[in-house]
Amino acid sequence: MSRLWNFSAGPAALPLPVLERAQRELLDWNGSGASVMEQSHRGKRFIAMAEQVEADLRELMGIPADYAVLFEQGGATQHFAQIPMNLAAEGDSADYIVTGHWSEKAANEAAPYVRVNVAASSKAYDYLRMPARDSWQLDPTAAYVHIATNETIHGVEFHDVPDVGDVPLVADMSSDILSGPVEVSRYGLIYAGAQKNIGPSGLVLMIVRRDLLARPGRKMAKIFRYAEHATHDSMLNTPNTWGWYLAGLTFQWLKDNGGLGAMAERNRQKAELLYATIDGSGGFYRNPIDVPVRSRMNVPFTLHDSALDAAFLQESEAAGLLALKGHKALGGMRASLYNAVPVEAVQALVAFMHDFSRRHG
Ligand SMILES: *Cc1c(COP(=O)(O)O)cnc(C)c1O
Repeated sequence: MSRLWNFSAGPAALPLPVLERAQRELLDWNGSGASVMEQSHRGKRFIAMAEQVEADLRELMGIPADYAVLFEQGGATQHFAQIPMNLAAEGDSADYIVTGHWSEKAANEAAPYVRVNVAASSKAYDYLRMPARDSWQLDPTAAYVHIATNETIHGVEFHDVPDVGDVPLVADMSSDILSGPVEVSRYGLIYAGAQKNIGPSGLVLMIVRRDLLARPGRKMAKIFRYAEHATHDSMLNTPNTWGWYLAGLTFQWLKDNGGLGAMAERNRQKAELLYATIDGSGGFYRNPIDVPVRSRMNVPFTLHDSALDAAFLQESEAAGLLALKGHKALGGMRASLYNAVPVEAVQALVAFMHDFSRRHG
């Protein structure tokens, strides 16, 4: 068996050293005589690990002390609903910037719990570009402004932090968290499902300014209330211990490899290589996204003739390149270039693309 180059959008590739270490530690974790999955989250060993994982994340992202770090469950999707439950009082409104599939879904899932104001949307442009910043209809009395920093399906990404004044900015970073340095203090709340750039699915990382935890939100059970999770160190109930552990291994891997600055440089190289191949293919491959807002993480592209799609997928897989099929909403192809995808994988992909276009052009 050998591992292939994996371009899956999610659950996505994990760093090989992370998987190898998990494999080594699987049967007997940390001298405990049992795997990390087989012991209490309230035991000394697990608590010490959990504290280390949070400390490593705080160091990597430079998270200020007035932010809590939560290890949640339910996927990012559950938090589309839970965020308005926590941050908005009955009757409040919140601003949503709709730039693709995920931010649109976030707005729809929030609608039962807050008055959703779509302050800007690029839907009329098929999400091929960002809504012009001066067209955003922001409400200074909104409970928060929600964005998705990277649209995993549509392949558009914010490359700066929008200025939304004093209203807390809430960001779904599921598919670009840890891909480069982030100015955490510009956000009120950051959240990310783990299965793109952190670890296995079933874990959601949340970084939230503590004053927002004091908001009363709506009437709800404790299990939905972020402040309760913060008070109980994300152990109000049994957490995803395996996901937490693997996230920790990923954070250590990031630290061993130069941190988020080094990741940003690698991710820039990888994306440039792929976009240059697409743009330089004389129209054989196409990515229609407005160039300044192209995603570094998810690159959707089409072939000039969709009749070649099946051959492209079959031949790429035979060449050891996995999961290039595009999302069904867009068709075509998509290559996801998360942190765990090495430069060599992208070099192999573009070599295949050159070869394929020569043979079929
Ligand atoms: C994958 C993804 C989600 C959904 O995550 P689930 O864990 O399936 O709920 C939400 N937002 C973005 C940006 C994503 O990439």
